[in-house]
Order: sequence, then structure tokens, then C-alpha cells
Amino acid sequence: MSGPSPNPRRPEGTYDVLPVPHGSQPEERLAGWLALESAVRSVCARYGYQEIRPPLFEHTSLFAKSTGEVTDIVEKEMFTVPSRGEGDSYTFRPEITPGAIRLLIENRLFQQKAFWKVWYWGPNFRYERPQKGRYRQFVQMGVEAVGSHDPLLDVETMAVYAEILRLVGVMKFDVRINTMGCPACRGGYREALRAFLEPHLASYCGNCRRRFERNVLRVLDCKVPEDARRNESAPAIADQVCAGCRAHFEAVQAGLRSVGLAFAVDKKIVRGLDYYTRTVYEFASPLLGAQNALVGGGRYDTLVASMGGPDVGAVGFAAGAERVLLAMRESGRPAAGLPPPDFFAVAADEAARGEIFLAAQTMRAAGLSGDLDYERRSVKAQMRAANKTGARYAVFIGAEELARRAVKIKRMEGGDEGVMSLDEAIRVIKGETR
Ligand code: AMP
Repeated sequence: MSGPSPNPRRPEGTYDVLPVPHGSQPEERLAGWLALESAVRSVCARYGYQEIRPPLFEHTSLFAKSTGEVTDIVEKEMFTVPSRGEGDSYTFRPEITPGAIRLLIENRLFQQKAFWKVWYWGPNFRYERPQKGRYRQFVQMGVEAVGSHDPLLDVETMAVYAEILRLVGVMKFDVRINTMGCPACRGGYREALRAFLEPHLASYCGNCRRRFERNVLRVLDCKVPEDARRNESAPAIADQVCAGCRAHFEAVQAGLRSVGLAFAVDKKIVRGLDYYTRTVYEFASPLLGAQNALVGGGRYDTLVASMGGPDVGAVGFAAGAERVLLAMRESGRPAAGLPPPDFFAVAADEAARGEIFLAAQTMRAAGLSGDLDYERRSVKAQMRAANKTGARYAVFIGAEELARRAVKIKRMEGGDEGVMSLDEAIRVIKGETR
């Protein structure tokens, strides 16, 4: 016999965003999301980035080919669903860069102009072990600047992100950069890495041994503590890059100095996706615990051509929004709440309900925000509700107002009252008259 079904629960690794303060995690608060999204929107606009919205799922092959077949994401973390007889399966995007580049190519945007700066914001999906700051559905915001090899563009993307952080009150972050070379210098590095790993290969984990054969760079992503420790002494790609890549890296560093963005070179950064070339960077927050990476980004000069687009340089970043919300809280900058509504409309009795509903509609049509009672509560309870919503004005209709085709308004702070026509009330609430 089955009993009553248990209360529905959200899947592990997800969270709900609520309009009221609740729970302990900042990602559960709508106000923080709105503040962050508006900061992202305004900084991106100021820097000339345009918003794009690719779909939440793509053909699985898009990620296998561009994120890389031998990456943690593609090997272990994708939410993939069958396509029901339409060929390739679908995968809910684990990152947005491949979809963003597909969007630019498929819609022939490069035929309009050769250089694009775009930004995006939205949920990603990765089947990871959930923990604080690490979710199975999480929001990434990011930019892609496509169509140039200019090292100053690398600097610009970092400046954009630094500015977003500062705008939301996150002033403390560490910027680390590295170079991963280009396909020309990477061949030699692969050999050097193989030569380093080979004598110890038997003691590496099975995953590493497989990656050694298929994509040796990915051995450096291994999280198994002994392997990670041994990898510490692996040769660094930054020490082996060609003259062109070295000059690019030096220009990026000079650019960062010129805009006053403090950074450190960290030769150990190798981003875990296949498409990165030359500059890679990470921002970390000293205020967060284990999951302290705020953003990952860099250049991907071969990706666009490899996906069938023009052979152009590109650079971008992807940032985890939940981490920024955590850093905002740790920085002691709680997001301001939403502005209070303009009115709460109160009906004295049943006879006034239809009229108060119409009055509320008229006020909303005039651009005011507000609500009314739908639970047939007493006037006292309606006034309590007006208080609770934080409305600036209560707008009341009783028998006397009905007879005079008027409304009574009360300023909640201060308590001034007056009876007037609805049009007059709208002007007063808008602050157009006294
Ligand atoms: P990645 O695409 O792996 O380079 O990650 C870029 C950024 O996204 C990281 O620096 C984090 O801020 C964020 N991020 C990645 N995975 C997760 C996750 N599972 N939950 C929350 N944030 C994430």
C-alpha cells in the first residue's frame, strides 16, 4: 500500500530563489540576483558588449568537440538526454562559450562585421558533487570578444569583470594569469610533459593514465591529491612558449599594469577546457572557502575556426554568479531590497471591492505599483497588510468615498490623509502635487 506521497523536494545541487529573506544562502535571495544582474548589464553596456541568449540545451557533439572529449565536464558531468530519434542526443549546457560561438557562426553574424563583443547570463548544468558554492544548476555570466588577437582585449575582459565585482561591493579579489601557448608551441610542451610523467606513470590514477594517451595536458587537471602533488613539479608551459606567445603575454601584463589591475603570474594555471590558447586567467576571492574561484577566462584563438567560423582570435570569461553573491555577503554589502510599492488599496466592505479593484487597475495603468486584498479581510487586517508590503500609501474606498466617487489616501509614513478624486490621488502619489 502506498501512503501519502512525501513532500516534493528539489533535486540535489539546486536551490530556490525566493522573494523574501529566508534560509542562509545568499543565492536564495532574489534581491542579490537583481543587483548582480543589473551590475553585469550596466558594465557590459558601458564596454560595448551586446547580450546574446543561446538555448539552454545544444547537440551533445557541440560540447564534445569544443569543450573537449577528454575533459571532466564531457567525461563525467553532462546532463544528456536522448533526442528521440532525431540523431545526436541533447545536452543541457555545462558552459555557454560553445553555444555562444555556434550562435555567432550559425546566424552568419561575421558576415555583418568581423569583430563581435557579446555577453550572456544564465543557468548551466553540471553533474557534480554538490557543496557550498558548487551546484548542479548554477548561473554563469560571461563575455566573449571575438575577432581580434589584440592583447589589450584580454586586458579589457579582465577589467570588465573587475568592474562588475567592484560595482557590487566585492573589492578584494586576487587575479592570477598564465599563458598556455599556441598550437605551435604546445607540441613541444606535450612532449616535455610526457617525458616528465612517463617514469611515474604506473603510480598515477587510471584516469591520468588514460589521459596520458589521449590528451596529456588534461593530466594536469587531476584532483587526486598524490597526482596533484606530483604534478606540482611538472614542467610549466609558460617556460616553453614561442616568441609570439611570450610577446603577447608580456603585452597583457603591461596592459594590466597600465590600467592598475593588480595581478600575479601563476604558471600552474591550466584551465580545464580544451580550447584555451595563450592568456588564461582566474580571479579568486580570499573571502570564500574551498570554492573560491570567481571567474575563469582566457583566449581561445583556434575555437572559432575549428567550429567552421572564420580564423579569428577570441577571448572571454565565464564567472559563477553564486560565488559572487557569496563574496558580496562576505564583503558586508547586502543587496538593497526592491523599492517599496507605491500603494496598497483597501476596500471598506464587499460593496467597495469592485471599485477598489478598478482603482488599483487605474493606478497601475498610470505607472504606479501596488496591490490589494484578495482574501476578503477586515479593514484592520488590510491596513496591516499595507504596512507589511512597505507601501508608501494606503488608498481606501468606503461608503462615503463610493458616494462621492472619490478615494481616501493615507501616507503610511507620517499618516497624512485626504479625500480626493482618483486622478488627484495618482498625482499626489507620483509626487506631482502636494
Ligand atoms: P569553468 O567553466 O569550469 O571554467 O568555471 C568558470 C566559473 O564558473 C568558476 O570560476 C566558478 O565561479 C563557476 N562554476 C563552475 N562550476 C560551478 C558549479 N558547479 N557551481 C557553481 N559555480 C560554478
